[in-house]
Formats: sequence, structure tokens, C-alpha cells
Amino acid sequence: MSIEQGYKTPLLGLNKTEIEDIVKSKGLEKYRASQIFSWLYKTPVMDIDLMTNIPIKEREFLKKDYCLTTITLEKTSDSKSSSSKKYLFKTRDNNFIESVKISNHYAAPTICISSQIGCAIKCKFCATGGIKFVRNLTAEEIISQLIYLIQLEREMIGNVVFMGMGEPLLNYKNVIKSIKLMNDPQGLKIGARRITISTCGIPKFIRNLSNEELGINLAVSLNATDDKTRSFLMPINRVYPIRELLSAVDYYTKKTNRRVSFEYVLIRGINDSIKDAKKLVEILNGRLCHVNLILLNKISNSKFYPTSIERAKLFVEILAHGGVNATIRKSKGTDISAACGQLAAKKF
Ligand code: SF4
Repeated sequence: MSIEQGYKTPLLGLNKTEIEDIVKSKGLEKYRASQIFSWLYKTPVMDIDLMTNIPIKEREFLKKDYCLTTITLEKTSDSKSSSSKKYLFKTRDNNFIESVKISNHYAAPTICISSQIGCAIKCKFCATGGIKFVRNLTAEEIISQLIYLIQLEREMIGNVVFMGMGEPLLNYKNVIKSIKLMNDPQGLKIGARRITISTCGIPKFIRNLSNEELGINLAVSLNATDDKTRSFLMPINRVYPIRELLSAVDYYTKKTNRRVSFEYVLIRGINDSIKDAKKLVEILNGRLCHVNLILLNKISNSKFYPTSIERAKLFVEILAHGGVNATIRKSKGTDISAACGQLAAKKF
């Protein structure tokens, strides 16, 4: 695969209007913009020279100032215990990000993508939280992860989840731009219902998202039923306590009429008591939501341990009894540190 590099401007990540501006500035025919857009997102190529309906002279002209992407694939790793695959990308400024493909037999794969290099939120149970926050990814770096996977795997994409490295709502502008590109009917055509933003819960941005009318899914990482425990696990709770977070989620539900998923990582002895389960019912009952219970994926040097499957099942029963819909989410790719909370962009 040939990837143009250097300090040229990447074309991926640009929307139609931006491509039209380039075409205009280069003095090319107006219709070239939709041809380029198509080569970027509809039938993506990783080399400007493969845009075969654009004359060679014009391609050369474009190549002087533009490349397709700025990230390069460093390594892939296949899980032996599941059908997950992890991809390590290097950014132009020599940082690393990861994406994960989670395959299943019955549907197109789910792609978990990163939105930041590192993460400033520092959740205690998450490997990404343990590495330094460097910067937000650009819309190009976000969308390029998907385009690489499409090119490499020659597969349709099922779902896209912003559950990789970083807090997507803290990179709001670029994440929203990338979602609009994914969702474009003349481009990647990934339906809004197949795109999920997973957030630690930043009320202001949850409210902003409610007003975007994107129709995507929202998953909120809750992980505790009281502020003391949640602040211990997720320091962001000191700034935005549970009550404030839930008020923003209620606003989201009211505006979008969409069910919200609450992620709850079960950690032995920390948030998995019967009392916690009952409190969770108290908090969530009556809300349009679903709870995803996740058995903690162990990360190195962590003092936390996963809850037993028996306790997780009991948790589900208590929630169901209280009228709260819940399922236990199976982790995949733990052997390659590709499961939820394990991404650390190490050169594995
Ligand atoms: S769980 Fe999400 S928000 Fe928390 S540290 Fe990890 S990547 Fe950041």
C-alpha cells in the first residue's frame, strides 16, 4: 500500500465544501470535487494515483500539495482467543494510537476507534488513563483509522464505536466532523444508528450533542452509584457529579428520544455489592436506558480485579427485577490488550 507522506495537507477528513474549495483554488473543473470525495469515502483508495477518473496531470497537480492521510499503520495483532484484531498507527508527530476490529459470525465487524492521543480523564481502571495526554486527533486521523481498516480487511463496517483511546466529547469538533463524514450517504454511508459515542460524561457536551440531531448512540460510563466511589474511580466525577451527569443524560433523552447505554465496569469489592445493584436500580429506574455490565479487563500494575461471573449474573437479576434492562458484555481481545480499557498504544 502506498501512502503519501510528508507535510502535505491530507485530503481525508475534508468534507465536500472543503474539497470544492481546493478544486476551485487549483482551477480544476467543479465536478472533480465529487469525484475526489467519492475516492476518499465511497470507494476509498490510499493513493491519489488510484483516482483513475482524474487525469494524470491533475493528479500530479494535487500530489504537489496534498496527500491522503498522515497516519501510517505500524503493526497489527490478532487475538488467539477471539476474533479481535488490533491496529497500531503512528501519527505524523510520532505518537501512537490504536483501533480494534471486533468480528462476529453473524454481522459485519464493529470498529473501535480512538479520538485522542492519551487521555486526560485518568480513570483508574483504564490503561489509556495511565498514559500522558498529548493532543486531540484531527478529523483526518479519526476517519483514516476506518479507511485503513476498510482497505486492509476488504470488509464492510458494521458498527463504529468511539471507545478507543481518549474522551471523544473533549475532542468535540473533530469527532462530530468525522461522524458526519462516516454518515454521509454519498460517502461511507455508515448509518447513524451504527455509530456510538462512549463518554465518561461531560454534561455540557452531552447537551450539545443532544442538539446536533445526528441520531447516533450515546453510551455513558457510569461505574458507580455514589459520588465517593465514582470520584475514586473516575476523577472527572469531582467536577461533574452523578446528579449533574444524569441531568444532562435526561436532557439528551428528552431531546432525542433515544435510549442511552450506561456502561458499568464491575470491579471486585469496589462497585459490585448487592447494595450497589439496588442503588443502580434506584438511580436508573424509569430512565430510557440499558446497562452494559463489563467484567473488568485487567491491566498491568492494577490493584483492581474483575467481579466473578456469578456476581455479575446476580447484578443482572437484581437490575431486571427492578425494571432495569441489563446485559453482561463479553470482552474480546484481552490476550492482545485490545479489550475495553486496555488500549495503551504500546508498540506491542
Ligand atoms: S475510560 Fe475513557 S475517559 Fe476514562 S481514561 Fe480511559 S479513555 Fe479516558
